[in-house]
Order: sequence, then structure tokens, then C-alpha cells
Amino acid sequence: MPVSTVEFAVQMSGPGCAEKVKQSLNSVGTVNIDIPSGRVVVDSDMPWIEIQEKIEETGRRAVLSGFGEKSAVAIVKDVDDKIKGVVRFSSTPDDAHTSGCVVDGVIDGLTPGQHGLHIHECGDISNGCESLGKHYNPRNTRHGSPDNSIDQRHAGDLGNIEADNGGRAKFRFADKLLTVNEIIGRSIVVTERADDFGLGNAENSLIDGDSGKRLACGIIARSAGIFQNFKKICACDGVTIWDERDKPVAGGNRSSQ
Ligand code: ZN
Repeated sequence: MPVSTVEFAVQMSGPGCAEKVKQSLNSVGTVNIDIPSGRVVVDSDMPWIEIQEKIEETGRRAVLSGFGEKSAVAIVKDVDDKIKGVVRFSSTPDDAHTSGCVVDGVIDGLTPGQHGLHIHECGDISNGCESLGKHYNPRNTRHGSPDNSIDQRHAGDLGNIEADNGGRAKFRFADKLLTVNEIIGRSIVVTERADDFGLGNAENSLIDGDSGKRLACGIIARSAGIFQNFKKICACDGVTIWDERDKPVAGGNRSSQ
């Protein structure tokens, strides 16, 4: 499993603080902390959500501020806001500019068990998840498993994720075929049922793995890589990076007042 570099902005008041954060990340990977800038940079193959949770167990807020060299992010939601998640993509470090990407995410509010995960061709949510088009399929191939050869899967076939009894699916894997560049502006969708990888008897097994309804989705947007995000405080509306996570991206509820 390739290692990714993940950068967090962490509230740290001094060396004692930084030492606690460092200790919390003992088993995670290589850790570099810069106290004045509040930057914690971790090289690890652990899901970013788990690293963030470890830092926050020390009692500090941590906001992910950079992910890999070239990266993208999708906020995944359903219409009722019952399903919510964040999926991050970064170029694999060994092959940063050609192909390969790490997919690292967490989605809450699912029914326990397996759900299909696919990149879709469009980024148009004018009609919710239904207007996102088909599975991303630039080579005009059949539907399949991400482990299949290049001509026996759609590029967008990412296989299944598994939600635990609490409804949370946490996942991190590398896909050899996809690149971060080609998926920006497209979308990611999580489905009702498990993907059968085209091996089932259902009519649409070779189209979408018979994985059922589109439960939740999100548009894939470019995001900051390591050391690209210098934002500390957004002067325009007084929302600091610490609050960012709990604020809508735009609209009337954005201001911290
Ligand atoms: Zn497919």
C-alpha cells in the first residue's frame, strides 16, 4: 500500500503540546511538526480520518490542510443529509505524474455491509445523483472489478466498501488505472448494494454490477496538496480554518457571527 503525505493544521500552544501530538502519532508513520505554523505533516499508509482522530484524542482540533502532491476531494451526501462523507484522492507518490491514485475516505450513515463505489462520467448534480451519467468509462469496456485487467473493467469501477454496524465505511486503497487529473470535475457515487463485478445473472450486471440505487454522491474537485494551503484565517468573514470543518462552503450560514 503506497504511503501518502498528509498535512494537518493543529492548534498547538508550545513544545509540550507538540510532544503530545507526536506521541499520539507514534505508530502511524513519519511525523514532522512545525509549532509556529501549526503544521503537522505525516507520511503514512493509514486512512487520513484515523490520523486525524489520533491527533484529536489529545484534545486538539485538527483540520486536514494538504493531501499528497496532486489531490482532489469529494464531499459525499444524500438528499436527506443522512449519509455524509469525504473521499480524498491523491496521486501515488511513486508515479505522481502519470497514473495511479490513492482513494482514502470515510462515509457515515450507510446500512451495514457492502456498497458499490464508482466514479461517474459527469459532475452534474442538477438532478441529484441521477444526472451524473454512467460509470466513467473512457475505454468503452465492460463493467468489472478494480482487480480486472484494463479491458475488463470501467476506469470508474472502484469495487465495494464495507460499512460497519455503526454505518461507517472507512477505506483506503490504491487504484492503478485512475489519475487525479482525469477525475476532477467528475463524481463519485456510493450505491445501495454490493457490486457483483459483472459476474451476476442480473441484466445490468455488466453495466453497473447490479449494485442498485445511487444512495449518495459528490463532485470531485481539486484540493490542496502538501504545503499549498497557506490559509490560516479567512479575513472576509471571520471564519478561521479551525471552524472551517463545521461551516457550509458558501451561503448565509457561513459567517461565524
Ligand atoms: Zn462500472
